[in-house]
Amino acid sequence: MTRYGDTRKSLREENLAPKKQLGQNFLVNKATANAVANCGKISENDIIIEVGVGLGALTQPIAEQAKHVIGLEIDRGLVRFHNERQDLPENVTLLHQDILKADFDELYRQSQAKLKIMANLPYSISNPFLFTLIENREKMDWATVMLQKEVADRLTASPNTKQYGIPTVLLKSCATVQSLLTLKPKEFHPRPKIDSVVVRIEFKEPNHVTGEPYDWFLLQKIVRTAFSQRRKTLLNTLSAGNFFSKQCDGDKKRGKLLTKDVINQAGIKESLRAEVLDLEQFINLTHAFSAQLET
Ligand code: SAM
Repeated sequence: MTRYGDTRKSLREENLAPKKQLGQNFLVNKATANAVANCGKISENDIIIEVGVGLGALTQPIAEQAKHVIGLEIDRGLVRFHNERQDLPENVTLLHQDILKADFDELYRQSQAKLKIMANLPYSISNPFLFTLIENREKMDWATVMLQKEVADRLTASPNTKQYGIPTVLLKSCATVQSLLTLKPKEFHPRPKIDSVVVRIEFKEPNHVTGEPYDWFLLQKIVRTAFSQRRKTLLNTLSAGNFFSKQCDGDKKRGKLLTKDVINQAGIKESLRAEVLDLEQFINLTHAFSAQLET
């Protein structure tokens, strides 16, 4: 692989200017790459999916710890760079692949187990990437991901803060999230403007919070609808979601009354806003909505 400190030289030699639109901020310090890889708690029998191989800074320590690495890289130039130099460790399979278009069933099959993902991610894809993980939560074991600090803060945010929102609640519904390591801009070339944080996401059974099963798709719809206008009350956002339009024959006034009753049945005041509810309250809302929708 590219020697640390040679990052700029390798890029120059290969005419590979870092592409801003692909979020190419490469790790330049070996000890730091080792520390990030260690956050993965990788075992020797693990098959790891690495998203965004770049110049291979993180691939090397991951490959030292894992049985096999399936590396995905969207940049054709970088894939060619590694193919020509044959510089990645032998237990790495490099694929030219956009993670947002990846077939998770196929990755699951190749991994022969629930997916273990490591990634130093570009800011531009962090949100769609996280939602892709949530969508594929049943195929996920864990993901250890480096994110822009502001994105990481959203994942671990508490209710009643400006960072708390849809990704916080939906991720918490299917996983535990822990911030493990903060990295300064000087660890990368080119240097990003702000700090990065390594976050460990461990996926859990869907009912891991309350122990009771609930309709996850309905929870997702309620959360998205409730946060669609953060400044509005639950009554206003959730009635605008028209959950009971069939039961009320499209009568919006009746729909609003029914929505108010259902929110209150969940033990929640209809004048509250989404940002003050914790996950358990969203799950209570989901139970109350399910019960009403089944009548
Ligand atoms: N892992 C390397 C490191 O730590 O130095 C590179 C990290 S760099 C922040 C992000 C990498 O992800 C780049 O190599 C970029 O080309 C790649 N990338 C960006 N979008 C991608 C996508 N949608 N799918 C796969 N790789 C992507």
